[in-house]
Amino acid sequence: MSFQLPANNIPSYRGRFAPSPTGPLHFGSLVAAVGSFLEARSRGGEWLVRMEDLDLPRVVAGAAADILRTLEALGLYWDGPVMFQSARDEAYRAALAELEKIGAVYPCACTRKEIADSAIGGIDSPIYPNTCRGGLLSGRQGRAMRVRTDAGSVGFDDALQGGISQVLEKEVGDFVVRRADGLFAYQLAVVVDDAEQSITHIVRGADLLDSTPRQIYLQRLLGLPTPAYLHLPVAVNARGEKLSKQTLAPAVTAANPAAVLFEALAFLGQLPPAELKDADPDTFWQWAMANWRADRLPARRTMMR
Ligand code: GLU
Repeated sequence: MSFQLPANNIPSYRGRFAPSPTGPLHFGSLVAAVGSFLEARSRGGEWLVRMEDLDLPRVVAGAAADILRTLEALGLYWDGPVMFQSARDEAYRAALAELEKIGAVYPCACTRKEIADSAIGGIDSPIYPNTCRGGLLSGRQGRAMRVRTDAGSVGFDDALQGGISQVLEKEVGDFVVRRADGLFAYQLAVVVDDAEQSITHIVRGADLLDSTPRQIYLQRLLGLPTPAYLHLPVAVNARGEKLSKQTLAPAVTAANPAAVLFEALAFLGQLPPAELKDADPDTFWQWAMANWRADRLPARRTMMR
């Protein structure tokens, strides 16, 4: 596979799939892989893979290699080298230094318990009560680094879910970009890496829809371009829980590639004909690419598998 970024040339479509190697590929992540792959390839675009192995305590040994093997066995071939977040500390450090330089971040000494005791609920975690915003209280040591949010609204037009906007200060609060354990937060890493890989279009699960305004906010602070976004419905079980390792979703195996691919394609509203279920991967992808229609994607945040 040869891969060269044309000098000073932004590609017209470059998509990506960014799994977290916390276990083998499961149906939920396969849907994101298939959706982002077909949207990229059907538009003549590139498709990159990035391993989000940043959250070391959650990474499972061997899972990254396992995911890559499964993608290949399913015919989901990517362009260029796979980027590993575990090797990108220097880039995140530089981004954090930039945020410090412009006064956009501050050290926070609060423990999880202190925050839980005084915070009110936000979109996906308690809203930080701004205890350390004006400086650390005397005798306290900074643990995490937080971004100062503001009262402006941050919005974008999702290609599937429509207009989304948030007032970060009110709905999310000042959020962590470097954790108390020293690890960089997903929100910062994803923004730095999407820019480094010149990603123009992000297709991923709608569980990340509410994170997108935070990411756009960071892009603006860092002077980075904002890609186009399309958030696919997330597969949930009968209890409404996301299919993931935590809910014990079974691993996708490549024993019968077309059958699992068929199911992902049907989930994405593409109406594959029944005979595609036992096709070989080549035949499957030929049909899928020729018949991919983004306007058939269900405009929902979650859908039962
Ligand atoms: N690594 C994230 C996940 O597996 C996806 C991040 C992204 O696509 O921006 O949920």
